[in-house]
Amino acid sequence: MRKENQDINQKKSRRLKPGVRLMLAAIIIILILVLVSLAVRMFGGVDMTASEVGDATSSAQTSTASESTSNLQTQSTKTQAQDSTTSSASGHYVQPAGAKWNLKLVNPWNPVDSDYAQSLVTYAGGNKFDSRAIDKLKALVSAANGKIRVASLYRTIELQTKLFNNKVSQVMANTGKPRVEAETIAATEVARPGTSEHNLGLAVDFLFEGYSSLSEKFENTATYTWMMQNCAEYGFILRFPKNKQAVTGVSFEPWHYRYVGQEAAREIMSRRITLEEYLEEKGH
Ligand SMILES: [Zn+2]
Repeated sequence: MRKENQDINQKKSRRLKPGVRLMLAAIIIILILVLVSLAVRMFGGVDMTASEVGDATSSAQTSTASESTSNLQTQSTKTQAQDSTTSSASGHYVQPAGAKWNLKLVNPWNPVDSDYAQSLVTYAGGNKFDSRAIDKLKALVSAANGKIRVASLYRTIELQTKLFNNKVSQVMANTGKPRVEAETIAATEVARPGTSEHNLGLAVDFLFEGYSSLSEKFENTATYTWMMQNCAEYGFILRFPKNKQAVTGVSFEPWHYRYVGQEAAREIMSRRITLEEYLEEKGH
C-alpha cells in the first residue's frame, strides 16, 4: 500500500512538472508584457514632459517679451529702450514692476526708474544709505570689529555719470579704442549712470582692513572669508561673484555688497547664486 502511494505521488509530481513549467513560462511572458508596457509609458511620459517644458519655455519667453514691451513703453529715453530690446534678445531677466524695495533689481538691463524715490538717511560723513536697512549695515560693520569700513554708499546719478566718464576716458587712453567700444569695456567695471545699485542706496563698497583702495586681492583675505560666512546674517550679499559676469554684467567685486534682507541673502549666499538668478527663479 505504502509503496503504491509513493508511486502515485511520484507520478503526480512528474505529471505536475510540465504544468509548473507552463505556469512559469506564462509568468515570464506576463512580466515581459508588463515591462514593455511600462517602457512604452515611460517613453510617452518623457515626450509629454519635453513638450510641457517647451510650452513653459515659450510661455516664459512670451511673458518676458510682453514685459519688455511694457518696459519699452514706460522707459523715457530712446537709449534705455534700445538697451532693453538688446537685453530681452540676449535673455537677461527683466524684473516685473512692483518689486519689493529690498529685492529691487538694478543692472544694465534693469535701470533705476526715473521716478524712483530713495529713502535715504545719513550714515556718517555725508554718506547716505537706505533708511530701512541702515541698522543692518551698522550691525554688520560693528560685528566685523574693524575688519571692514564703509568706502561708498549712495551715489547720485550725477556722481555715477562722473565716475563712468572718468573710466571711459581711462579706457580710451589705455586702449586707443573709440568711445562706444570704450564705454562697453568701462561698463563692466563702473556701472553706467542709472544702472548702479549705488543709485538705489542699497549697495555698499567696503574697504578691507590693511588696504587703502578697493582691490580684487580682497578675495584672499581672512576678512573676505568672514564676510562670506557672515554678511547674509545681516541681509547682505556679495553682489558680483567671480565667474558670474555673464549674468550680472559686472566683473568680480569682492568689495561690493548689496542689502536684500536676511531671507534672500541666506539663500543667495548658501547657494552661491546671483540676485538675478534668485529673482528669476522666484519670479520676483
Ligand atoms: Zn560698489
